[in-house]
Amino acid sequence: MYLIGLSINLLHLIMSDYQIKENPELFDAIVVGSGAGGGMAGYILAHAGLKVLMLEAGPFYDPAKDSLQLRWPWESPRRGAGTTRPFGDFDAAFGGWQIEGEPYSKVAGTEFEWFRARMLGGRTNHWGRISLRMGPDDFKPKDGVTEEWPITYEEVKPFYDRVDRMIGIYGTVEGIHNEPDGIFMKPPKPRLNELYIAKGAKKAGVPVIPGRGAVLTEVSKDIKDRGACFYCGQCGRACKVYGDFSSSSCLVIPAMKTGNLKVIDNAMVREVITNDEGLAVGVSYVNTKDLQEYTVKGKTVILGASACESARIMLNSKSKSHPGGVGNSSGLVGKYLHDSTGASLSGFLPQLLDRKRYNEDGVGSVHIYSPWWEDNAKLNFPRGYHIEYGGGLHMPSYGFLNWVPKVNDIAKNSDGKTKAKGGYGTALKEDFRSYYGANVGMAGRGTALARKDNYCEIDPDKVDKFGIPVLRFNYKWANEEIAQAKHMQETFQSIMHEMGAVITSKIPGADTLYGLEAPGKIIHEGGTTRMGNDPKTSVLNKWGQAHDCKNLYVVDAGPFVQQGDKNLTWTILALSMRTAEYILQEKKKLNG
Ligand SMILES: Cc1cc2nc3c(=O)[nH]c(=O)nc-3n(C[C@H](O)[C@H](O)[C@H](O)COP(=O)(O)OP(=O)(O)OC[C@H]3O[C@@H](n4cnc5c(N)ncnc54)[C@H](O)[C@@H]3O)c2cc1C
Ligand code: SF4
Repeated sequence: MYLIGLSINLLHLIMSDYQIKENPELFDAIVVGSGAGGGMAGYILAHAGLKVLMLEAGPFYDPAKDSLQLRWPWESPRRGAGTTRPFGDFDAAFGGWQIEGEPYSKVAGTEFEWFRARMLGGRTNHWGRISLRMGPDDFKPKDGVTEEWPITYEEVKPFYDRVDRMIGIYGTVEGIHNEPDGIFMKPPKPRLNELYIAKGAKKAGVPVIPGRGAVLTEVSKDIKDRGACFYCGQCGRACKVYGDFSSSSCLVIPAMKTGNLKVIDNAMVREVITNDEGLAVGVSYVNTKDLQEYTVKGKTVILGASACESARIMLNSKSKSHPGGVGNSSGLVGKYLHDSTGASLSGFLPQLLDRKRYNEDGVGSVHIYSPWWEDNAKLNFPRGYHIEYGGGLHMPSYGFLNWVPKVNDIAKNSDGKTKAKGGYGTALKEDFRSYYGANVGMAGRGTALARKDNYCEIDPDKVDKFGIPVLRFNYKWANEEIAQAKHMQETFQSIMHEMGAVITSKIPGADTLYGLEAPGKIIHEGGTTRMGNDPKTSVLNKWGQAHDCKNLYVVDAGPFVQQGDKNLTWTILALSMRTAEYILQEKKKLNG
């Protein structure tokens, strides 16, 4: 059989002669992906009057119609368990760590986990809404280990300000140098367990301040067609009144209303098509329903498919002008991959056993958090982490008190005695009632190092169900990151001790890297198409524009040189807005 020995790409090319369907329309811009990055670029360009086509791999999703907010637990036909939803039956996420027919591989010794959402709005339908700006020292670090960005906080600040006003964020003005304040709505009040946390943390020398989240806690004259939050605590299911930020509700659907943004859903982009001069002329995609291949034409191509997926598209876009993949003359596409570090600890507060019942659902994001507070000169790792806190009374869900029978021998009953672990029947129900709302958890989210040795690349031996070559991950934690996780655990224990909590999780030691989660698990991956001034050491320039292909841009977390200890989405939004404005300026100058 003569086809044996041909590469998968070549085979695809031969077959595609018979299959490709060309769309003759020429768009001003094609945006790939509709999450935070793609959504913002589409919004800005469509509002400026450009004819924009957005290609989204997943189905259309409008929280107003599709959210499963305000359901009772017993309405779940599967007792809460998800099928296509990794976080349970009512959560908004379609996708997860593994998607049927869309594999990825890892080299031996790599534990990277890759979370993907497949739906309009991407992961922003079900993200935690914790919205932190990176600070001046995050853009220009002075630790000698982590690298500088080609831009400063001052250059990004006007875009953060515009994102704050446009989308809405709560928080408080604190004046902390590397935790810049935004334009805030009022924050939600701390819950009871959070008051204990704040007191314990203060004694442990750890600051606690009100949280910062993308939820409308006030009505704003600048924000139209969205309702204010009514504190159901269920942002993870997406909000039917658009009270929180999802790219679907706040960016893509409003942009469609301008008449300038067309969305094709269920469109899995394969590659960027370039001409003999190396410029992008369009993209090809597979319709995930009819499995046919299509091409569309655009004057500008903007990738916002998420950091690893955009790198995958670029690496798969090989041509005579871009033999190593479009924009990859540096060989750095896929390199410098980094997620945040993460570790956690849980326990309960004996003071809150048998507590009074009332509604403290609040917003579906954090009410309090601890920004990084330490002086690195005294530590064995650069940079730092912030702490997110959980626990308290929330709407019960299936299995939410499963931990109680494992720990109910630790606390004393009202008669001063302890029980045996486990239990069933009336005694177990009594324990559930007693422990409900007494739990407390804390999780660190820290700066991981962007290193060339951690990367994703194309696996030469594997394609997904659409025939597109998949990614293979190479990733190892460095000693600095392990040292950071150790510091997290010591801090958590100290706060737990000072607040009088009982620790219920096993305290992780060196054998488990102090509970440091596998890379990818914190779902903050970035750095795969880093920006920089030198085309030899970066993929994009400081505007997110490919050095090698001037009408190709990346607007997800790929352009990040190095994350701070802040969750990354607010920065994706600000940078995508900045890139979109740059594209408009270039078009005015007839450069794009
Ligand atoms: C459970 C959870 C909690 C989180 N909490 C927070 C938080 O509190 N704060 C924070 O800052 N961040 C948080 N994040 C991370 C946040 O969701 C991401 O940083 C953000 O969504 C990234 O935006 P993006 O546009 O790069 O990618 P995505 O939001 O992933 O969007 C990418 C889109 O592109 C589409 N796509 C992918 N490949 C293709 C292709 N080949 N062709 C066409 N379309 C494609 C996808 O279907 C998807 O819709 C959380 C994430 C999760 C999952
Ligand atoms: S907590 Fe507020 S913003 Fe979140 S889903 Fe409920 S009402 Fe909407």
